[in-house]
Amino acid sequence: MTMLTPQQYADRLAAAMRRLPTQQVPVQRARGLVLAAPVRAQHRLPGFDNSAMDGYAVRAQDVTAADVVLPVAGCIPAGRTDRLQLEPGTAWQIMTGAPMPDGADSIVQVELTDGGTEQVRFDAAAVPGASVRRAGEDVEAGQVVLQADTRIGARHMGALVGSGATSVEVTPRPRVAVISTGDELQAPGIPLQHGQITDSNAPMLSALVEQAGFEVAFVGHSDDTAEALLAVVQEAAPLADAIITTGGVSAGEFEPLKAAFEGGRAVTFERIAMQPGKPQGFGFVDETTPLFALPGNPVSALVSFVMFVAPALRTMAGRPTSARWGTATAVEGWRTSPGRAQIARVWIEADGPYLNARVSGGPGSHLMGGLAAANGLAWIDAEVDEVRAGDSLRVLSLDGEFD
Ligand code: AMP
Ligand code: MG
Repeated sequence: MTMLTPQQYADRLAAAMRRLPTQQVPVQRARGLVLAAPVRAQHRLPGFDNSAMDGYAVRAQDVTAADVVLPVAGCIPAGRTDRLQLEPGTAWQIMTGAPMPDGADSIVQVELTDGGTEQVRFDAAAVPGASVRRAGEDVEAGQVVLQADTRIGARHMGALVGSGATSVEVTPRPRVAVISTGDELQAPGIPLQHGQITDSNAPMLSALVEQAGFEVAFVGHSDDTAEALLAVVQEAAPLADAIITTGGVSAGEFEPLKAAFEGGRAVTFERIAMQPGKPQGFGFVDETTPLFALPGNPVSALVSFVMFVAPALRTMAGRPTSARWGTATAVEGWRTSPGRAQIARVWIEADGPYLNARVSGGPGSHLMGGLAAANGLAWIDAEVDEVRAGDSLRVLSLDGEFD
């Protein structure tokens, strides 16, 4: 059986995903979520003509030269709500963001005056229309402020809230169940007997799910029997939009995922031309709930999540499927696994405006210490057997959202 490339497998999983049903959420909870429909401005921005400067509101025709002196009608601070009138031949003192008095067409900034409060002397002629922010010059009422499919970030909040939105229709965060498998596993904090290890994948995958912008809805563990695994999967499925398992997918004797699903229709097992993370399983445990069966070695589980699960979950969330891999220069060479893509752990460092990367930790997929010492992944194609110093590498940070 020919092995799939990592790209082929990622594409296959993403293609099987459907976008989650939309929900209405308050804008305060919408960061990181994707708009299901365009958002239109409830009112225009700015909402009224206002001053862009601290200074004086005038008719430009009253201040045509330096040394003009006008009586000051009073002061308009920001937040004043009464409608004011500018009488010809007078000025209002006005602050940034304060509403223009009717009849005024220009602002003269305070620095170009003597700053008077009873009367004001101007050092220069007024420029018609200067320093006035016009109502609607930024956004018109009814205008689309954010397009559908926008992933709401901090930079969108001003336009959203400023133009009157209080809630938005979004695709929610996928709720994810994480299930570890293995008779050797003990929960964190439990003393270990010889041959036992602490279950580190469940906490790691939970952290990966959250770091990637999704929600952990369930964390469970199964021993190495098909019965126990199926029971945990059944418990998790109603609570989650997707299930991730680790372990039990390789060719050994006690492989609960294989035992539970192999030969059936629900989950199929593949070998991917990738190191680490060759054995993978994927299927649906009910009509809507996909199950991603990842290998148990911690580095393999992390790489599988970043390469396959995160793109699939992003698709469910309405986000772009593919991660935006960047480019870094290899500062030293290394030999890679022939015939398979290598997803190497690297340390990425800024070099002025560019990025450098060096391989970090060994290639063994059990090396959690080495993984912790890396801050990124480098994707080396199967055809490449050796990376040389100076080569361009495709890299992805492990400090962000893996997208
Ligand atoms: P498996 O894929 O179940 O054969 O597991 C491969 C390796 O990963 C074994 O050395 C397991 O002990 C280890 N492993 C499996 N699950 C976990 C886990 N949840 N946390 C840490 N190591 C694990
Ligand atoms: Mg196992």
